[in-house]
Amino acid sequence: MARDRFVYDFDEPSGGKELLGGKGSGLAEMTQLGVPVPAGFTITTDACRAYMAAGHRLPDGLEEEIQERIARLEQKTGKRFGDDADPLLVSVRSGAAVSMPGMMDTILNLGLNDAAVEGLARSTGNERFAFDSYRRLLQMFGEVVDGIDAHRFEQRLADLKQSKGVQNDTDLDADDLRGLTGIFKRIYHEETGNEFPPNAREQLTRAVRAVFDSWDNPRAQVYRHAHAIPDDLGTAVNIVQMVFGNKGDRSGTGVCFTRDPSTGEQGLYGEFLANAQGEDVVAGIRTPEPLENMRERLPEAFDQLVETMATLERHYRDMQDIEFTVEEGELFLLQTRSAKRTAAAALKAAVSMQEEGLITREEAVARIDPGSLDQLLHPMIDPKAKLDVAAKGLNASPGAACGGVVFDADTAAERGADEPVILVRWETTPDDIHGMIAAQGILTVHGGMTSHAAVVARGMGKPCVAGAEGVSIDAAAKTATIGGTTLGEGDTITIDGGSGRVYIGAVELVPPQINEDFETVLGWADDFRRLRVRANADTPEDTAKAREFGAEGIGLCRTEHMFFGEERLPVVQRMIMADDEHGRREALDELLPMQQSDFEGIFEAMTGLPVTIRLLDPPLHEFLPAEEDAEDAKMRRRIRALREANPMLGTRGCRLGLMFPEIYEMQVRAIVRAAIAVSERTGEAPLVEIMHPLVGFAEELRRLRELTVETIEEEGEIEYLCGTMIELPRACIRADEIAEHADFFSFGTNDLTQTALGFSRDDAEGKFLTFYLEHDVLERNPFETLDQSGVGELMRIAVERGRSVKQSLKMGICGEHGGEAKSVGFCHELGLDYVSCSPYRVPLARLAAAQAELAESGAAQYVAAGG
Ligand code: ADP
Ligand code: MG
Ligand code: MG
Repeated sequence: MARDRFVYDFDEPSGGKELLGGKGSGLAEMTQLGVPVPAGFTITTDACRAYMAAGHRLPDGLEEEIQERIARLEQKTGKRFGDDADPLLVSVRSGAAVSMPGMMDTILNLGLNDAAVEGLARSTGNERFAFDSYRRLLQMFGEVVDGIDAHRFEQRLADLKQSKGVQNDTDLDADDLRGLTGIFKRIYHEETGNEFPPNAREQLTRAVRAVFDSWDNPRAQVYRHAHAIPDDLGTAVNIVQMVFGNKGDRSGTGVCFTRDPSTGEQGLYGEFLANAQGEDVVAGIRTPEPLENMRERLPEAFDQLVETMATLERHYRDMQDIEFTVEEGELFLLQTRSAKRTAAAALKAAVSMQEEGLITREEAVARIDPGSLDQLLHPMIDPKAKLDVAAKGLNASPGAACGGVVFDADTAAERGADEPVILVRWETTPDDIHGMIAAQGILTVHGGMTSHAAVVARGMGKPCVAGAEGVSIDAAAKTATIGGTTLGEGDTITIDGGSGRVYIGAVELVPPQINEDFETVLGWADDFRRLRVRANADTPEDTAKAREFGAEGIGLCRTEHMFFGEERLPVVQRMIMADDEHGRREALDELLPMQQSDFEGIFEAMTGLPVTIRLLDPPLHEFLPAEEDAEDAKMRRRIRALREANPMLGTRGCRLGLMFPEIYEMQVRAIVRAAIAVSERTGEAPLVEIMHPLVGFAEELRRLRELTVETIEEEGEIEYLCGTMIELPRACIRADEIAEHADFFSFGTNDLTQTALGFSRDDAEGKFLTFYLEHDVLERNPFETLDQSGVGELMRIAVERGRSVKQSLKMGICGEHGGEAKSVGFCHELGLDYVSCSPYRVPLARLAAAQAELAESGAAQYVAAGG
């Protein structure tokens, strides 16, 4: 806590996002750019951290600093805070360094009380507006500071509208709203036992504390966990002079994007609500109008807004998401941030900004979140299919999803764990976040492109249809009526967030189309990266898919997959049941041509590129049925004999190859024959890499290499490498000895993680690992993101020791980590030659590998959009 102050005005030089939060630094930068922003100041994240560290006590000196800044604000605005006649009102707004839309709290219109509201009514000559502002303060303050359930206020507002027979808040007049403030004050008293605090300074201090506290509210915690945001960043608090969009028809509030957040196309994207304040647009209570409509109503403010959008995009060199308010024709900007966007939009925006000269290719590549590419590789509804559209809403977040309908977030979270569900709501609120995470897609009746549901779904890459007015929900009965059909909980629907359409039942989906922007950016990535990217593929189909996605070879072809085929399994079982080597060889002779034809298919699909084939790895019992399903007593005995307490650490991998050499011998023969057949057929010799699993001792590999080489020589001549998986801690440590017998190493980081951590994956993920993650014993699942400081250290040792005896040793990784961005970065750093991952992850790995190189060379740093 080296800094000597906790508060900065928007118009003075200060710090960046870390210190001021995203919102605060945006307000300061805009102010300093000359964009119209109401006056205000920011209490830093340092203050929040100090507050939390001191057990939720405001740090010394903070209150004085705040009072000083309020005094300056009074000077700038010519109004007094707490004044009865013409009060200065402010908003108190949270804002962390990382954007967490709607996760923390904001209070508007702070500074009003029973006397000041009359003063405001008189000084503005607008009583309706004054009481509208006051009732909002009472509700927000009650909710945020005293934790009163929003529902208590909303119910009374809904009752009032019903008794008046009106639809919208804007249809309520000054008297209605005056009455409502009375009701809200009573609710406040009932819930807290106290009167609503009339003193503006007391309101302010309590609001600041509440915003600090909101950093730790459960929904913010869930959001941070879901997005891997550290828990100790804290939030800044922004105190902003109020400007009023609820002063009548020449006022309003809106949200806009400098490019379309769904597609990245240039144009005018945004929404506007006349005579409304703040949250009204985002809350999805009234469905807003397209921004375009503002052109006619408020032409000057509109032109200025369009100009400001361009200024901000040029300044930030990135697509912005902007909040604004118009008070009686005058425009004010209230927030700007990098827009959250779909992967398609991110690619389009990056490519066009590069063309426009706004950013370099390196930056374009560095800006795409590798994890988001997945969205583009997911199935869509066949555009040519003729389907009955049951309802239509806004295409709020692209992709198609199908699942059983559920009507509340808890049920979504529960059922969503086991089956696909679609969360169907009137509108979503930040409290629904756990349900949205669990659902395949989200459908809302109200709200626009900037509603909570839409923003959050786009951030998560989940399909969302918002504002589907043709849907109605009976929450009590747990039914929804969609275009005349009534559905109960669990009934299936399909939504298409790319077109906004909703269908009853399950609709067949087609594989995704990779577009030009995708190819362009990945093409650039390929120019930058040093790491090669291969795929894990066991069939010719997967191999073809992998090639299409840009794989430069196969890093792992598992041969056991081929043993499970319908006509093969009985032969494999006969091999296992055989009493002696002779019996086994008979069965293996039958398997050989089958394996050979599999290999031929794969070699042909990967001509010109290396293919790593791993010899049989799993324990033999996996090929036999459960004991109770055994054919006869002999098989039962065999099953019992093969049973192991820890099969993962049992008779598998190269141990099988040593005990039953005829198995590996058959596999090697099949490989050689396939390679020869394919080179004769195509004129191009496959680049074969034969890999031995689970090696821990150099002697294991020495013997198996001998067997492999002898077998190959018996069959003929092929180009090949003979290497090993490195997936045991011992193998890492003795990598120098093992390297003597290996042409390559391939890290099997799944087994290496299991054996290094002493976690069996199946037991861990179902049980204690979940607990560890929830209780922050571990930050990440080590099976998803490589444990760099543990498992990674073992890999580093293996790389060093392996290369110390054989400089040319080829090294790669073929565990699932090869398709996870952070782990790919680590592999780059380790100096591996390639990563290998599932075909669908290949694009991600290509991009992550390029970003690792760019970060290392300092050419560009990965910046996640929406920060
Ligand atoms: P969030 O992080 O949830 O977007 P904000 O702090 O941005 O919360 O505020 C909520 C809403 O209130 C936004 O629509 C914002 O534009 C509006 N708002 C905040 N401060 C002011 C202000 N001083 N004057 C007018 N509107 C405001
Ligand atoms: Mg909010
Ligand atoms: Mg905001």
